[in-house]
This record gives sequence, structure tokens and C-alpha cells, in this order.
Amino acid sequence: MLVKQQDNYSAARLSASRLIRRFAISQPEEIVVEDLAMASGVLVVEGTLHGSEARLVRKQDKGIIRVKSGAPESGRRRFSVAHELGHWFLHGDVSQFHVCTEGDLRNYSGSNQEAEANTFASELLMPTPLFKPVCWDIEPGIATIKKLADKFGTSLTSTAVRFVEENKENCIVVFSENSQVSWWRAKEGMSDLWIESHQKIHSDSAAWECFHDGIPATKMQQVSANSWFTNLRYGKRFEVYEQSMKLGKLPLVLSLLWVIEE
Ligand SMILES: [Zn+2]
Repeated sequence: MLVKQQDNYSAARLSASRLIRRFAISQPEEIVVEDLAMASGVLVVEGTLHGSEARLVRKQDKGIIRVKSGAPESGRRRFSVAHELGHWFLHGDVSQFHVCTEGDLRNYSGSNQEAEANTFASELLMPTPLFKPVCWDIEPGIATIKKLADKFGTSLTSTAVRFVEENKENCIVVFSENSQVSWWRAKEGMSDLWIESHQKIHSDSAAWECFHDGIPATKMQQVSANSWFTNLRYGKRFEVYEQSMKLGKLPLVLSLLWVIEE
């Protein structure tokens, strides 16, 4: 299952990087999602949508992406368009109609079309040849990720996922909702640390503070490895650093974990 999931993510990344190469994009500012869509036969319009953020309708080789009008910030709007383009390129043989909710646009785990479309969108907006050189050697932290999000015009969550993929340190991004882990993504090839899905947020973690209206730490702080990992094996020792922040007013928390094996 996990191998298939990784294969699907790889295929999604490859599809996005083909598009970047086709248009010889060499700067983040050149990634204009509406233009890339138009050149692929897909028109982007804004309009009213109830209960969803974006949708794609396909009719043979033409498509229309509709994004919810009045999207709060351009990073989210761009991500929505890029996500629907992901469905356009990856899922043509599966469905002619995709309706995507806010939750779908935040889904980065499991074998499903939404996580694949998000992987496509992340690679399209933060292509490896442009993102890796500026991400590889910087110290993990949420302020750093925010700077990258500004540079690439992307959302904090999608940028955090790409940070974990391309930074040289062993980091994990965790997305929690209502004091439970929703999903997490670790750097590929990282050791066998494991977070259970729907795991309760531990009271020793910085994320717990965020859920209980504590003041978020301004930098990474050391937490006990037990506060995140339930499968620690005897004899292996880790230092775990964490920084967490609440996303808006909702009970959603994004955590960045930096794991150093002793
Ligand atoms: Zn979708």
C-alpha cells in the first residue's frame, strides 16, 4: 500500500515538473497558474460555490476550473487552481467531474486522488529545481517556511510539506484538528518513527499549547520524543524539536518536528 502511494506521489510530481519544463519556467514569478491552465485547454473562472472551494468539469479535451469567488488570499486561490490542474492531468480516466472541499485541499496522506492532486499542486507551485536550492540548507522553523511561502506565493501548509521534502534535516510536518493528528508527512527515507493516525495531542507538546490558547513559541523548542512518537524502540535515542502554530481561528494546528538521532 505504502509503495503504491509513493509511486502515485512520484507520478504526480513528474506530471507537474513536465509542465514546468514545457514552459521553460525559471523563476517563481513565472508560474501563472491561469496561463498554464489555458495552455492546457482549461479555462479558469471565479464564481459562487456552495460547500466547496474549487471544481473541475471536463468535456473531452477541454476543461473549466471554477474557484470560489472572493478567495481570501492569492496563495490559496493559486493552490486551488493548481490542485484542479492536478485532477486534470492525473485523473482523466477516473472522473470527468471533481468537486473539492477545503479539507480536500489540505489532504496530504493516504492513497487518494486528493493527496495526489495536492502533491501535483505543490510541485507545480514550488518546483524542485527552484525550491530545493533555497530550501536545502536553511534551519528548520516556521518563520523560515513563511518566508518561502511569500517567495513562492503559496499557502503555509503546502510550503511546510515541500520544506520537509527538500530540507536536508530530518523533519516531519503534522496537521492536527481538534487535538488529534489528522495527517503527517516525513522526509523520505527517514528512520522508522511513527505517529498514529488520530493520535491524541500530548500535553507535553507545543501543539497542545496551541489548542489550549497558549502563546506559540517563536522558535523551535525541545520536547520529549514520547510526546509525538509511540513506537520508540529501546536503544535508539532522539532529540526532538518542535514549533507549532494555530491556523486562523479554527481548531487546526500545524507542527514542524525536527528529529536528530543521537
Ligand atoms: Zn480535489
